[in-house]
Amino acid sequence: MSTEVTVVEVGPRDGLQNEDVIVATDDKIELISRSVAAGARRIEAVSFSHPRLVPQMADAEAVMAGVPRGKGVSYIGLVLNRRGLDRAMAAEVDEVNVVVVATDTFSKRNQNVTTGEMLDAWEKIAADTPAGVRKSVTIAAAFGCPFEGETPPERVAEIARRAAATGADEIALADTIGVGVPGQVRDLTRRVRAAAPGVPLRFHFHNTRNTGYANALTAVEEGVTVLDASAGGFGGCPFAPAATGNIATEDLLYALHRSGHVTGLDEDAVAATGAWLGGVLAKPVPGLRGRAGGFPARTERDS
Ligand code: MG
Repeated sequence: MSTEVTVVEVGPRDGLQNEDVIVATDDKIELISRSVAAGARRIEAVSFSHPRLVPQMADAEAVMAGVPRGKGVSYIGLVLNRRGLDRAMAAEVDEVNVVVVATDTFSKRNQNVTTGEMLDAWEKIAADTPAGVRKSVTIAAAFGCPFEGETPPERVAEIARRAAATGADEIALADTIGVGVPGQVRDLTRRVRAAAPGVPLRFHFHNTRNTGYANALTAVEEGVTVLDASAGGFGGCPFAPAATGNIATEDLLYALHRSGHVTGLDEDAVAATGAWLGGVLAKPVPGLRGRAGGFPARTERDS
């Protein structure tokens, strides 16, 4: 069955956030512009966290001032409090996303609040978000926690229930440390659908243990139509230091397109972006599609 899948390009925010080298504002804008040109229509562009806590995102306003507008692209900004929301609205993002970590230990280390306190913060942000601005909740560490081990799926479902009851337009389940497997994808999809009926689901996978793409394809089999991915596969997690990053957009596109699904994105263009970003970061590209090329090989007739 052919499904129309929206691939959310998270490279500009999630891909870059944990890089030690501060990426120039112009390079961030180029990454976003390349993604738009390749067909991306939802882009996680920036975070409005405090610049002292997340120095890589200190230029969020300058980035948003330089992104291409008017091409039907929806730009997502991360916010974690009222101040962040105000900055996001002033910078004219199209969507706000709030991250709620599913386990208390990880949540305290990451955001200095418990899961319940972050849900309270989300509720305030949701109430203050102007109508017409999509607001979503990402449930981080939904598949496992570096400190507590297994994340109870009932707990993930309960967070989803509260997010839905307080106005989430979308719920994303993130495998932040890359421990998930397809059976978990199926289980969580069903539980969260039951807990938050009618709220669209999005998944965010890492390829830490080489299960990221299998998980993504499983989500699509379960009827999920929105997936996060990062050009080149950059973007690790500071709490999983040896981990590789997000699934690579170009590799995900290859798997989706060859399975008959439709994304509207140009695989070759995204692969070129991944290679370019590797140059900017002076790092090898985790994604493989750029190195291997597409299949079947393109002929003159195709181009
Ligand atoms: Mg990530």
